[in-house]
Amino acid sequence: MMLPKPDSIIRDEILSLKAYHVPVSTGMIKLDAMENPYSLPADLQAKISELVSSTPMNRYPDPGAIALKESLRKAMDIPVGMDLMLGNGSDELIQIIAMAVAKPDAVLLSIEPSFVMYKMIATFTGMRYVGVPLNADFSLDMQRILAEIEQNQPAVIFIAYPNNPTGNLFDAEDISRIIEAAPGLVIVDEAYHAFAGTSFLPRLAQYPNLLVMRTLSKLGLAGLRLGFMAGSADWIVQLEKLRLPYNINVLTQVVAQTVLEHIDVLTQQAKSIMVQRAVLKTQLETIPGIEVFPSDANFILIRVPQADSVFEGIRQRGVLIKNLNNGHPLLNNCLRVTVGTEQENEQFIQVLMNSL
Ligand code: PMP
Repeated sequence: MMLPKPDSIIRDEILSLKAYHVPVSTGMIKLDAMENPYSLPADLQAKISELVSSTPMNRYPDPGAIALKESLRKAMDIPVGMDLMLGNGSDELIQIIAMAVAKPDAVLLSIEPSFVMYKMIATFTGMRYVGVPLNADFSLDMQRILAEIEQNQPAVIFIAYPNNPTGNLFDAEDISRIIEAAPGLVIVDEAYHAFAGTSFLPRLAQYPNLLVMRTLSKLGLAGLRLGFMAGSADWIVQLEKLRLPYNINVLTQVVAQTVLEHIDVLTQQAKSIMVQRAVLKTQLETIPGIEVFPSDANFILIRVPQADSVFEGIRQRGVLIKNLNNGHPLLNNCLRVTVGTEQENEQFIQVLMNSL
């Protein structure tokens, strides 16, 4: 008997997919993944250590993560009456939504360039993906979006607000028009909310087809993997059926709950990141030949001459950022740098200048 080969069994679209690439960063200054560069204060870290050492790990975690959800509701001002769903990172929530709506020919619509996982997960789940290009100034091309909604009748629309990797907030009234025109679900992905200060949470009551998604990753807890999503019970009850029972592990539950009780620590750190973002932007703007885009997130998009060689020069000098060249045409020669500590940002500016 012939041994089965992956290429005769695995779906064609998976065979031709390129895996999400995470570069090795050992020993480097890591400004590629929108992490918070600050650690927790020593007293809170000590409290967490104590908690971890007294948490039994022989039992499964609370499948509903009830205590953690309560802390999230308080810390994140989730509107009363809305349901909350937790994911192992918001990546997992995107996947759960796609799995729930992925009928044959169902469409997932997003804008481009945006978070690449929307398109990847559409492929994972066999959905048809429609990516609507942004205008050259990274604003929403409303005429085109409304036409594509009309034509493709998407089951789900994802809009990152602020957008990754462009860093801007879209016009909130434009997003509202999209929600009103959508024949299905609209997810406003507020992964970078902490650095923007504006939210669609207050509009949940107005729009029954809206879900608002957030994550603790950019806020300082990327290692814990905790994303959450708020919206009406009508949708969340259905989506919950696809969530694997113990997706939020016991350590994430106890640690996140404790940190959320000290949410002011994280919001203060987010404020420091916003201060450093302004400093970094000003410094970048003084370098001739670099275009710096405005940012409402914890990263800045820049356009440089010869992005590939500049990126490589920066990498060889020990700083890891993200090269977006050779991807979407709107991002030609673009690099994305996460805002780090004051020292990290200074080092980045130094190696950038040496790499131009
Ligand atoms: N949404 C957006 C817009 C993002 O940029 C990211 C991370 N890059 C995520 C969601 C996923 O975040 P996580 O899975 O860490 O919650």
